[in-house]
Amino acid sequence: MCGIIGYIGKENSVPYLVSGLKKLEYRGYDSAGIALHTEKGIEVLKATGRVCNLEKAIGEKEFNSCLGIGHTRWATHGDVSQCNAHPHLSYKGTFAVVHNGIIENYAALRDKLKDEGYAFVSDTDTEVAAHLLERDYNGSLISSLINTVKKLEGSFAFAILCKDLPDTLILIKKESPLIIGKSNEGFLVASDMNALSPFAVETVKMADGEIALVKKDSVSFFD
Ligand code: GLU
Repeated sequence: MCGIIGYIGKENSVPYLVSGLKKLEYRGYDSAGIALHTEKGIEVLKATGRVCNLEKAIGEKEFNSCLGIGHTRWATHGDVSQCNAHPHLSYKGTFAVVHNGIIENYAALRDKLKDEGYAFVSDTDTEVAAHLLERDYNGSLISSLINTVKKLEGSFAFAILCKDLPDTLILIKKESPLIIGKSNEGFLVASDMNALSPFAVETVKMADGEIALVKKDSVSFFD
């Protein structure tokens, strides 16, 4: 189980995501990536190895994005590769997902989705969740998220972007930590308290079975 970071607020998300990922490095990991909500939709950058390789991939590119998620991966399902690094996109690109933990029933879910015609680009258990989110998405976000989560066995913390929601960072937690930190600039979320310092003036640990919708100036919780 490795690291999750997410930012929504008034500022450019990239420096917050990169600095958060660096604070998660001590946990060990094999690859890193970010997904940004921009005026072009959802943009994803990934690299194997250290966060500094991801920084090189970001390079001089300028992103206009106040909403993003990031991940340091410790592979449990699939080799260390750029394809297997997080974030993972759903098949139409509506959702970008980072995940800590293991989806125990991923093989059965993957076979079912493959039978239905869904194509996979990675070997991860996480991509199953990304495709299920898209398949279950019926315009009502919360009921779609609940429909997906009900199908998943195992432990998971997810940070999710939805292309249709440029103002919302989605969080889901079961048996894997997620903490929401608040400051005057917005919200920083992470799987580890270390990554929220010194940003957060207030923090909330999510409870098991909870979904949070984080906007730049508010959070709503659903059980
Ligand atoms: N099971 C996922 C994978 O292999 C997430 C691993 C992690 O927690 O970093 O990609």
